[in-house]
Amino acid sequence: MTRTKTAVVIGGGIGGLTAAVALHQSGLQVTVLERAPSLEPVGAAISLSPNALRALDVIGLGDEIRALAAWQGDGGVRTPDGRWLSRSSAEAAEARFGGPLVLLHRSTLVDRLSALLPPDAVRTGADTRLADPGDRDRPARVRTPAGELEADLVVGADGIHSAVRRALFPLHPGTVYAGFTTWRVVIPVPGAEFASHETWGRGRIWGTHPLKDGRVYAYAAALAPAGGHAADERAELLHRYGDWHDPIPAVLAAARPEDVLRHDVHHIAEPLPAYHRGRTVLLGDAAHAMPPSLGQGGNQAVEDAVVLAHHSQDLAAYTAARLPRTTAIARKAVKVARLNLTGKRARIAVRDTAVRALSKAGPALFLRSFDGIADWRPPQPPYASPRTQDGERYER
Ligand SMILES: Cc1cc2nc3c(=O)[nH]c(=O)nc-3n(C[C@H](O)[C@H](O)[C@H](O)COP(=O)(O)OP(=O)(O)OC[C@H]3O[C@@H](n4cnc5c(N)ncnc54)[C@H](O)[C@@H]3O)c2cc1C
Repeated sequence: MTRTKTAVVIGGGIGGLTAAVALHQSGLQVTVLERAPSLEPVGAAISLSPNALRALDVIGLGDEIRALAAWQGDGGVRTPDGRWLSRSSAEAAEARFGGPLVLLHRSTLVDRLSALLPPDAVRTGADTRLADPGDRDRPARVRTPAGELEADLVVGADGIHSAVRRALFPLHPGTVYAGFTTWRVVIPVPGAEFASHETWGRGRIWGTHPLKDGRVYAYAAALAPAGGHAADERAELLHRYGDWHDPIPAVLAAARPEDVLRHDVHHIAEPLPAYHRGRTVLLGDAAHAMPPSLGQGGNQAVEDAVVLAHHSQDLAAYTAARLPRTTAIARKAVKVARLNLTGKRARIAVRDTAVRALSKAGPALFLRSFDGIADWRPPQPPYASPRTQDGERYER
């Protein structure tokens, strides 16, 4: 009888959990080791584009997420005084990419992913280090608070400050500060009527988008030195955005200071030489942390996960499939952040004129920014996913 292969996933974020589900469905015995005391994710909502939703289709979760999420695309880009630079529609997004862009709370996605794992697959409170990446003739080993584990495959899904990345590639320079900080908040509907929008000011951005459960997700980004924190981040937002167009003042009025999350943005500017060494791979932010300007960090982690399950016998093929694509998307995310967060008045005038003109001449800029990203299709799984086994389809 052949032995069941084992995989250890370090990190129970979106990337790690998707990889765990995909590897479990392809027949591996999977253990997820998460440092935090629970799987409750840090962060507010997450937008998923058709590429990641197609990856979730591979593990039988795409239609459920489409049904649980708010469909995006109605809205556009505005100036701080409320003028529209560009407008788009959900139908246009769907037509362009063959599926919707959606927005949902991160904890919904984490809950649905963990429900697809065997009950004993996840261990929380398990701060884990890579002890040996393994090789053809020896398993990989990890060190946990409860002792060492061996595995045929170790997945480093331990996020932007990945210790697995440092262990595999000690000479890599790591992450750099992207030059801007972000705030996120999820609140009940603020009372004011509004259309989904992202508003571009001078070195500052604000976005407001409805969730399906009646709440609202708002985020902001601003050029700032690294490491800054205000005693009251809501007051900080009021100071920076309080005189911007509706519904921004109403969102700020409805938010409590303790609802506001603030994070500086770091990213990997120099691509890694590979996403694997021995029997150990990296995925998600551990492999290619990128600025959130295209909303692709989590989407790419989900893509990585199903491609990894497809190539779990050939990790060089995983690197070959993922490194060029994620490097190109990370570079594009840096460029987009430079454009929409520019602090230079002359560049802002050119930017706003170009966005208006381009969006009049054809599809809205918001849609164009997803070209070459949202149309991605996953490799056909070598195994039957639950959806293809019994033909079950989730209802919208
Ligand atoms: C403001 C902002 C908005 C964003 N919006 C979007 C968006 O709309 N769409 C999108 O696709 N992406 C978005 N992103 C990016 C997205 O959040 C990340 O790319 C995504 O969370 C990466 O997933 P991951 O699983 O690789 O890492 P993480 O989500 O960071 O998960 C890593 C996990 O590993 C655990 N861990 C770390 N070290 C250890 C250890 N030693 N042992 C065990 N466990 C460990 C951590 O506790 C964590 O749970 C946004 C980012 C920011 C900052």
